[in-house]
Amino acid sequence: MGKVLVVGAGGVATVAVIKMAAMPEVFTEIMVASRTKSKCDAIAERIGGNRIQTARVDADNVNEMISLISSFRPDLVVNLALPYQDLHIMEACLKTGVAYLDTANYEPPEEARYEYSWQWAYHERFREASLTAILGCGFDPGVTGVFTAHAAKHHFSEIHYLDIVDCNAGDHGKPFATNFNPEINIREVTQKGKYWENGKWIYTEPHEIHKPLTYPGIGPRESYLIYHEELESLVKNFPTIRRARFWMTFGQEYLTHLRVIQNIGMARIDPVMYNGVEIIPIQFLKAVLPNPGELGENYKGWTSIGCRIRGLDKQGKERTYYIWNNCSHEEAYRETGTQAVSYTTGVPAATGAMMYMKELWKKPGVWNVEQFDPDPFLEELALLGLPWHEKFDIDLEL
Ligand code: NDP
Repeated sequence: MGKVLVVGAGGVATVAVIKMAAMPEVFTEIMVASRTKSKCDAIAERIGGNRIQTARVDADNVNEMISLISSFRPDLVVNLALPYQDLHIMEACLKTGVAYLDTANYEPPEEARYEYSWQWAYHERFREASLTAILGCGFDPGVTGVFTAHAAKHHFSEIHYLDIVDCNAGDHGKPFATNFNPEINIREVTQKGKYWENGKWIYTEPHEIHKPLTYPGIGPRESYLIYHEELESLVKNFPTIRRARFWMTFGQEYLTHLRVIQNIGMARIDPVMYNGVEIIPIQFLKAVLPNPGELGENYKGWTSIGCRIRGLDKQGKERTYYIWNNCSHEEAYRETGTQAVSYTTGVPAATGAMMYMKELWKKPGVWNVEQFDPDPFLEELALLGLPWHEKFDIDLEL
């Protein structure tokens, strides 16, 4: 059906490429390109059979990206590198006439600021070039947006309250590790909290608001209100939403380490001089922390991510609704050699890429996932390893 170029070769890319390789009728040719070619080769070797081509590329160098795209000539570029590369890769896609998909919104390296404005600004250029760009197609953002679109399409006439709940009840046996790129993860969880209420953003101190929430098959876990990027697109695309919040579980050990890391300056994103060399503390910290892509081996337990929604049903009656997926770290590791956070991101990225290849998610412009038809995506997502469940008219705890 089409050729795909995957940029990045971390845990998320590993899962996405394994899934794509298993669908030769959809992904006729696959190339993985990243900064460190040996990591691309390791993915290709794992899959075997000369199925995967590899290349080295610095995705921040638009000209390098353009020549790679021009020589491989993919139908779609799937960006599974870091958010810093988003705009450079989008620019290269525009210059070469190729569609684009990613899992995290652009943020400038020098400031941990999460907003879609930079990528939404590309809408007209993609539209005029008749090219599709699909933003935020991991789990959160990604499946959480599709869950919301599914709720709006099938179960609600108006969504009033949306709470996205993200629980990692797994144990990797290490004193401290992050589940995806440490630099991006720590930048995200140490910023101020923020949620949408009655038409405006309300700000909180980091981790100020928290409460125990009960997750299916897991039980109660302390959950902290943090800002997460999909809130911005969801309140725009579903304007009946009165309040939208995002909750994530953290263990006490994790929070204690995080506080110490911040207090001693290791979370700093500005350069400091060390022995005559300029280093960025959080990037040095990444180099000494466990690699999230390799946490899988001893990881036990489950993740549970979903949407809790309150509003009016199709007949105008009050209703509550919970839709979620539980994913096992052990099963993710058995299948792909990575843990459930890489798995729950890589599978939706491969599913979204499949939606594009099948022309089910294809329209000129820059779009968030909830702006496409949720039905074919959710059907394939379950078949590809992330089954989802729903409950109606229950106590949402929120
Ligand atoms: P990793 O750090 O494991 O992998 C990132 C990869 O990108 C590495 O292979 C890295 O190369 C490569 N890379 C970095 N900079 C460049 C560059 N300039 N040019 C080419 N390649 C580059 O991260 P993860 O796999 O854990 O995460 C990947 C993405 O997924 C991130 O953007 C993250 O924010 C997103 N994510 C989204 C989630 C969601 O649910 N939506 C959840 C989790 C993650 P090298 O090996 O040389 O460093």
